[in-house]
Amino acid sequence: MSVKNKVVIITGASSGIGEATAKLLAKNGAKIVLGARRESRLQELVDEIKKEGGQATYSITDVIKPEDLKALVQKAKDSYGKIDVIFNNAGIMPTSPLSALHTDEWNQMIGTNLKGVLNGIAAVLPDFSKQKSGQVVTTSSVAGLKRFVGSGVYGATKFAVKNAMEVLRMESAQEGTNIRTTTLYPGAINTELLHTITDDAAAKKMAAQYNRVGISPDAIARAVNFAIDQPEEVDISELTIYPTKQG
Ligand code: NDP
Repeated sequence: MSVKNKVVIITGASSGIGEATAKLLAKNGAKIVLGARRESRLQELVDEIKKEGGQATYSITDVIKPEDLKALVQKAKDSYGKIDVIFNNAGIMPTSPLSALHTDEWNQMIGTNLKGVLNGIAAVLPDFSKQKSGQVVTTSSVAGLKRFVGSGVYGATKFAVKNAMEVLRMESAQEGTNIRTTTLYPGAINTELLHTITDDAAAKKMAAQYNRVGISPDAIARAVNFAIDQPEEVDISELTIYPTKQG
């Protein structure tokens, strides 16, 4: 079964990687269920997808709240009768040196980037286990593969989701539930993510790097499409996508 007709839930769908992925998958015939906090952006995207002949709906979602993820899954089932894929993509990146002690931001990152992904997994697992199929795609980062100064907590959340995703793959193979897992490790992608940085020095450094090497979120959308489009017995478990110019 290809992307066509699959029901795909996307968190962090109101901008950047999530938005680009929603558009590409909808163009390829998937039924998209969008989640994020900014309702006006979700409504605009649904309208745009429908105008292009695609199918999409949304539910306002704060991934920190498990009940919002459950409601998003219910929306998918009510609208399209099933769920095939969840793309756990919502995230924030307020990087700063640990010594700056932005502890509120540490907690927000843990809540969004780590607990948010776990809430997404928890919301779909009962259905995926019952139907003995399903796919969990999660956006980690190259900061989940190697260390960067300023990314002590951001990187910790992205390393952590890598662990959860790989263990989910191993357990589902052992339990015979046929759940495919795909973890994405993007490099510098030009989105609104840098707006979440409040530390001046960190923001300047990151903006200079992104201006030099950053690429379009369409690159990640194509990677997600590729992973979903494989035959059911094939699990693209990890994909690292760097801008060619990023060292
Ligand atoms: P954007 O800022 O453009 O998108 C982030 C999305 O996450 C928005 O849709 C935002 O929507 C949503 N979001 C943030 N907090 C929450 C929340 N609590 N609940 C629900 N949705 C939330 O950035 P990107 O597209 O770049 O980011 C997507 C993912 O990609 C993130 O996980 C990020 O860490 C990861 N990533 C990005 C890279 C890059 O260079 N851009 C590199 C590596 C990884 P709203 O505010 O409406 O809720």
